[in-house]
Amino acid sequence: MKSNDKNNNLSNLGEFGLIEQIRRQVKSDSTVPVGIGDDCAATIIPEDHVLLTSKDLLIEDVHFRRSWTSMYQLGRKSAAVNLSDVAAMGGRANHLFLGVALPIDIDATDLEDFTRGFLDECSAAGATLCGGDTCRSNGPLIISVTVQGSIAANQMVKRSGAQIDDDIYVSGFVGDSALALAQLQGDITPCDYLILRHNQPTPRLELGQQLVQRQLANAMIDLSDGLFADLGHIMEQSHCGALVDCRCLPFSSELRQHLDRNPADIETALRGGEDYELLFCADPNRADEVARLSQQLNLPLTHIGNIKAQDYSLQRIDINGNQQQVEAQGFNHFK
Ligand code: ADP
Ligand code: MG
Repeated sequence: MKSNDKNNNLSNLGEFGLIEQIRRQVKSDSTVPVGIGDDCAATIIPEDHVLLTSKDLLIEDVHFRRSWTSMYQLGRKSAAVNLSDVAAMGGRANHLFLGVALPIDIDATDLEDFTRGFLDECSAAGATLCGGDTCRSNGPLIISVTVQGSIAANQMVKRSGAQIDDDIYVSGFVGDSALALAQLQGDITPCDYLILRHNQPTPRLELGQQLVQRQLANAMIDLSDGLFADLGHIMEQSHCGALVDCRCLPFSSELRQHLDRNPADIETALRGGEDYELLFCADPNRADEVARLSQQLNLPLTHIGNIKAQDYSLQRIDINGNQQQVEAQGFNHFK
């Protein structure tokens, strides 16, 4: 239970005090002639670029539990999951808009911590918070973020561009976030590394932009729903099939140690979401260039399989070397 004066804290500040508290924390940006404080924000994107826009909702007890995250991390993640969508197109992230519906037990310090996290994540991406909406919630904490990015129209990487025989790559490690979530749900406290991977994912903006500059990716998506589910989205939109070799998947040492003791949990790692790594498809003749980029960014880029014809559907080689058909399913809110 929070004390009364903490409750007062927020009502004392009021809606406009809250907005002012957020506004004070935002740095100026030459691409934002009008930011927080007017009826609309006015923003500038580079000439000959298209505007990329994406929105994500984060709802308490659907997407997160307040007892499993700090407000600072929640702020970071709220920005990061949106920035990740811009990364997945290969774009630059420019401007964000933040809607928050605050329940009665959130106080000014909570909001300040949340905003600090949100703005730290924006700064890391070189993006600016330009506006939003703030209101009271009679139920859960609700966060709604819109991100706007930009990219030269002819450079955009979509889900639909995968070609038969393309190599499929993923960045970083997969499965950490799902393991952390499974542990939290089982009342086990994950180690610091896993908690960070779940609560504070890193949007791979630099990778997305570098892939675009080098024209290395034919199709790309960020891993939010789970490896197979997100690969399934590429298959659907590129009208193709895929083979994934599970023996090649990049697992962190923390996840490996866990799987040594609990081998069945590999399904959690494969089906679980929220890694926010990038999955992309590249011409096999460009493998050397992908390897060089990996070195340059100091980020593993792992070849996990190949694009196949559509009638191949989705198949995997499991850790014992057996090949089988799999369903491209991951997290689905309505199932
Ligand atoms: P209006 O009533 O015209 O929608 P508001 O009073 O809701 O205006 O908001 C005033 C200003 O504060 C606007 O520029 C709006 O974008 C900004 N704003 C409101 N809430 C937030 C927030 N949570 N984060 C950033 N900017 C916000
Ligand atoms: Mg408003």
